[in-house]
Amino acid sequence: MKLEKLRLVREELQDEFYQEDITSSIFYYFNKRWIELDKTSTLSKTVHNNLELSKLEPVALRRKGSKNIWVSCSEIECCIALYFSNSAPKVLEVYRRRINNVVKRASNAYKVSHNQLTQLLARDSFREKLHKALTSISHADLTSEEEQEGNLNKILAVFALDIDHFKQINDTYGHLYGDQVLKTFAIRLERAADNIALELSDNIEISIGHPSGEEFLILVQGYISKDTIIKIANQFRLEISDSPLPSDKEWEDLSKRENLSPIILPQLHERNVTTSVGLAFYALSQEGEITQDEITSILDRADTALYRAKSGGRNQVISFDDILSNCGRVLEHDIAARVIAIDIGKNVGVSIGQEFKVFSTSYSGKKGFMINDGRTSRTIGNYPRIEITTITVFNVQPEVSFAYISDIKEKESSVTIEKGALLELIPTGSIAHLLTGRSKYFPDAMEHIKVGDLSALQNFIDKYATSKNSTFSIVFRFSAEQEYFKRYGSAALNSALARLYREVQAIFPVESIVRILDTSSICVVGFENNYKENSVADLIKELDTQLPELRLVAGIFGQTDVKREEKSNYGKLDIMHSIDFARYAASDYVKRENSKLIRFGHIVAQNILRALFDLKSTTQGIADFEKLSSLGVSSAEFINLGGLLYRAKNNSKHAADLYEIAVKKNPAAITYKTNFGLATYFSSQTDRGLTLLASLTNEELQVALEKYPYGFLGYTALLAKAKISESTLFDAERFSWMAVAAIKLEKYNRHGMIQIIQSALAMQ
Ligand code: GH3
Ligand code: MG
Ligand code: MG
Repeated sequence: MKLEKLRLVREELQDEFYQEDITSSIFYYFNKRWIELDKTSTLSKTVHNNLELSKLEPVALRRKGSKNIWVSCSEIECCIALYFSNSAPKVLEVYRRRINNVVKRASNAYKVSHNQLTQLLARDSFREKLHKALTSISHADLTSEEEQEGNLNKILAVFALDIDHFKQINDTYGHLYGDQVLKTFAIRLERAADNIALELSDNIEISIGHPSGEEFLILVQGYISKDTIIKIANQFRLEISDSPLPSDKEWEDLSKRENLSPIILPQLHERNVTTSVGLAFYALSQEGEITQDEITSILDRADTALYRAKSGGRNQVISFDDILSNCGRVLEHDIAARVIAIDIGKNVGVSIGQEFKVFSTSYSGKKGFMINDGRTSRTIGNYPRIEITTITVFNVQPEVSFAYISDIKEKESSVTIEKGALLELIPTGSIAHLLTGRSKYFPDAMEHIKVGDLSALQNFIDKYATSKNSTFSIVFRFSAEQEYFKRYGSAALNSALARLYREVQAIFPVESIVRILDTSSICVVGFENNYKENSVADLIKELDTQLPELRLVAGIFGQTDVKREEKSNYGKLDIMHSIDFARYAASDYVKRENSKLIRFGHIVAQNILRALFDLKSTTQGIADFEKLSSLGVSSAEFINLGGLLYRAKNNSKHAADLYEIAVKKNPAAITYKTNFGLATYFSSQTDRGLTLLASLTNEELQVALEKYPYGFLGYTALLAKAKISESTLFDAERFSWMAVAAIKLEKYNRHGMIQIIQSALAMQ
């Protein structure tokens, strides 16, 4: 903080002397040696002597024959050297007075921007710092939108701190003592900041503010992870709580600066201070421009989190992002009306239809079990975690929401929820709590019903891949999940998923494995000889009648499909990939005219690519083409579609390679050849294109002209290019009739290819 003050002095000095040919330097004494402000070089012996001697001069030091004068400022523990271009003045009094004024102005400026008691940044200067930081981070992030692996993005967080029960300290030991606690608190924060910066080898910048009273703000920015930020917040918290504040040493240091004799220092064990910390991360907005609202918003979020830390028991760090999932509490339970009020609302992201587990304060898993043996009391363990019930939100307001008991078993019984009971958000796709047979005493009994846990399914398939027991995978999916979620919330979606899960379990024999793939789908693997297509069709029909809005669909792949594809000559599909294949068969892009249950095969893969191509979803189309290729899908049409997708992304070169493979697989397909012609035309591989297209017969070209005129045009344009470049591959006879036909194609009469054809025709 001293350096900051000296930098203000420097600014004022420049203002004061810039019109007269006078330059200046500032020196300060630190760690038993003199240092020049913001310079690293060591000082010469002469300079060192001058600095020491200047302390003895009441006005200023001027050495014989020197152009400089040295003015010592005891109140800010520094010395200012003024360098005159000709010779140093005879009368020094004037300069002494001007320097005093400079220092006074700098001190005033410092006072305005810093808290008087602790010298930390005052409210406005902290906001200014925050504004600058937010601006720099929003620009930095806009240029590198995607997070690179191992290369962390710049992150910014604000901590709001408030001393716990500070009023009590004031009331018990007096306001003057309270002030000393505040000062020490500030020094501890600065010390923690220094240690953290050292630990993270300066990958981080920390600014500390003290806007008022016993409230502090900390701004942290750097290329670090969110976890590190939370660790840092706790480091600040522990710096305060881990040892008596002030310590004897700290009190001694304070006493050196001012007379503390009127204040009685409390006993060591009465000097325990703790602080609560609220944490908010900066979420990059779309705009990129940082407004005052944005600053207020991040400070508000930190404040909301701080309030949670207080109500959750103090001396803890709470992140705004965790409030929704972990920090809600029950305000009251109106048993007659069967309504539960909870203390979180729209402000922290509560929405209608959200579900929460409820735990009593004793049985939340956080409370220690204490015993008292008559002399001391000690903790011998923890009260277990026991869920009371689950509730679903039906009304949301900014700071409060209302819910009803949604636990299937408890619904009709008279469960009472105590005030202060803890809430835990149940995420979408999590349905263990909805399945009968679970136990609230053994929360892990249904642990396998986790979202996205594919390993058990895949292990089953792998295990029987080479055995006589042939296997299958089937995926059931609510294809209108998103619309349903928007309309009815996560509780309704979870209960639909749970229902599907139960019914699926009921129709497949016990040795099958049922798992939740994601928030809208369930996968079953089992043995084919036990598979009954009728029961599956009935299940789909029934659920579709009862929950029509969810639009249930299913996809399947088994040994039967492996055999069918083998016979079809499309190519082999491996049973090992059956889960992926079933997923694809249940995807959005599959045609389902009659049946909601689709068997995966090459035709389905082709349909998916065709649909994506028609929808112009080329990026996704290419991703799916690559994925399905890697799974072994390899029919000529499939590869041809891959070519179309790459062409749509302007990668004609790669498209040409794919079309060539398609032609090899099916030389009879005229379009694969004409597509190849177009791709070679657009990637300037004329000879390569003509060599392959020469295999087309004139009859086939007639078909092309009628059915695929664009491809016909492409071939003609290739021939035109060959004529112009005098290639030996030019086929004059073919070109003469094709060019005439191509020019007549009205749809393309403005196309660049027509112009090339015309120029070639014009040549003699
Ligand atoms: P908690 O924050 O844990 O909820 O309890 P608290 O007792 O700290 O809460 P509260 O915000 O009510 O009390 C803050 C007290 O801080 C009230 C006021 O007397 C005291 N205070 C505010 N500014 C100063 C100051 O500059 N010096 C001193 N000594 N006390 C201050
Ligand atoms: Mg307060
Ligand atoms: Mg307080």
